[in-house]
Amino acid sequence: MRLRNKPWAQEKIDQNSQYIISTPENYKGRWNEAFEKVQPLHIEVGTGKGRFITEMAKANPEINYIGIEVYKSVIIVALDRLIEAKLPNLKLLNVNAVDLHKYFAKNDVSRVYLNFSDPWPKTRHEKRRLTYKDFLKLYEDIMVDRGEIHFKTDNQGLFEYSLMSFSEYGLLLKYLSLDLHKSGFEGNIMTEYEEKFSERGNRIYRCEVQYQK
Ligand code: SAM
Repeated sequence: MRLRNKPWAQEKIDQNSQYIISTPENYKGRWNEAFEKVQPLHIEVGTGKGRFITEMAKANPEINYIGIEVYKSVIIVALDRLIEAKLPNLKLLNVNAVDLHKYFAKNDVSRVYLNFSDPWPKTRHEKRRLTYKDFLKLYEDIMVDRGEIHFKTDNQGLFEYSLMSFSEYGLLLKYLSLDLHKSGFEGNIMTEYEEKFSERGNRIYRCEVQYQK
């Protein structure tokens, strides 16, 4: 997702550093200091316009959340939601997930959400998929033992690839739905992409996997 370039986006980000952390490397290993309460931290990688993470933060005040999005033109939409909602348990980071280890230390994070990640269908782009083994290693390196990844997508190819990647990495499958909206799963919070694609009749796939150490 890449919206039209907005030159004023950086200015807006700089003016709202209480919501979009401008020096995330300073919080590495001590993210609790960025929040009002000491409680578990869940992150969403590729948060887009931020509906999911904002609604999750509203619904679960006992969890701290961080939404991570690489494009400024996109994250400022999430920023507007957060300014409006004024949630003490949600922050945003405008960084690329390949650099997660620069900003988070082992045990900082207890869950990673991946929602409608870019599929990168060409084999030569496999390394860019957020469920590629190198990313699974990155998440493991910043998570608590037995941390979890919760993943959903409408893209069957990416889902099948990701299940294989999780399995080859040794992750334990804890939940699987091949049709989330007809599965009776309670408490689902729709993302922007989820709403768009399910309105077109696409099935939504979802799984939860857990590291074994
Ligand atoms: N999760 C949102 C949803 O479900 O509506 C957005 C889905 S959109 C297809 C994927 C988002 O992930 C895009 O906004 C993209 O910029 C972001 N993204 C992709 N790769 C990323 C990376 N390496 N680091 C941070 N964000 C990334």
